[in-house]
Amino acid sequence: NHQVRLAARPQGTPGPEVWEHTTEPVPEPGEGRIVVRISHISLDPAMRGWMNEGRSYAPPVGIGEVMRALGLGEVVASRNTDFAVGDTVTGVLGVQEYVESDGRGLQKVSPTADVPPERYLALLGMTGMTAYFGLFDVGALKEGDTVVVSGAAGAVGSVVGQLAKVKGARVVGIAGGPEKCAWITGELGFDAAIDYRSENVSQRLKELAPEGVDVYFDNVGGDILDAVLGRLAMHARVVICGAISQYNAEGGMTGPKNYMNLLVNRARMEGFLVGDYLPRWGEAGTELAGWLAEGRLRSREDVVDGTVADFPEVFLKLFRGENTGKLVLRLNRA
Ligand code: NDP
Repeated sequence: NHQVRLAARPQGTPGPEVWEHTTEPVPEPGEGRIVVRISHISLDPAMRGWMNEGRSYAPPVGIGEVMRALGLGEVVASRNTDFAVGDTVTGVLGVQEYVESDGRGLQKVSPTADVPPERYLALLGMTGMTAYFGLFDVGALKEGDTVVVSGAAGAVGSVVGQLAKVKGARVVGIAGGPEKCAWITGELGFDAAIDYRSENVSQRLKELAPEGVDVYFDNVGGDILDAVLGRLAMHARVVICGAISQYNAEGGMTGPKNYMNLLVNRARMEGFLVGDYLPRWGEAGTELAGWLAEGRLRSREDVVDGTVADFPEVFLKLFRGENTGKLVLRLNRA
């Protein structure tokens, strides 16, 4: 059982020195417990936050502990009546090949020929839930709104824009590079895209949202957040989903300067955690799966084949913008 453990707290971008690779025998299930063979590891920007010391919504991963990660796998041994050998489960499984668990917090899922397993880490998993509750509950989306989403070709952002279209909004996505911009406007039906690497975001927002932005779904923070705050409509809602541009920042986060525009426009800015909506995930999952089956939503998974040892390098793709859609590490076995 190959495992990747946190060896040291990173300063800035986490290099190979913060990881330790260990090997243990494949675990046996204790009484009332199961063993899961992990086939897919979810790569999430939030994992960078879990590596830091200090108070947050979840305790930090301890030094020497297996890195925390969402994943998907198959039950290969069971002494728990709720799980049978052969069940596919998702949940917090860690960066390793096998995990022994009491089953709490794990959800059974049913991949089919049409629904590949990695989709349960993407639109049909935590990613889809984040887009759904962030846009509909926190963002209080209304028909006819002008919605701007950053990280728009990423896992969450690509779903946010599509959901806004389903509800009849006008959607502008902000993403890095011409391919990503072409994908969100061409395949996903966004009304417009801004390539923040080559375009002036403030200037383009002025052209694309002349009446202002009603909902801004922020995945990146920093200068892009500041630019959108400068273009808020009256009673705008700014959803703080994440701030990936700041996660590796050394010497502290840099904040927006245009926040007084919240006052001027009687707007609000609100953070949220998808986990707080857990009791409603079932309802949201049914609705998302329905729209997916009707072809009104698309889920793109950016699957990298490799082993647990590849995790540290694959993780960094998120911060280099090398993924389109949901980044997943699929574990190969001999
Ligand atoms: P993504 O699939 O969006 O991957 C990250 C993307 O961020 C990259 O592809 C890159 O795209 C973009 N990015 C990276 N660095 C920068 C930068 N410096 N400036 C601007 N963009 C950058 O990840 P997820 O969809 O999984 O997560 C998106 C956000 O949602 C994150 O901030 C995450 O923390 C947050 N989140 C919050 C949750 C909650 O409960 N609040 C739950 C889940 C996620 P590009 O090429 O366009 O730069």
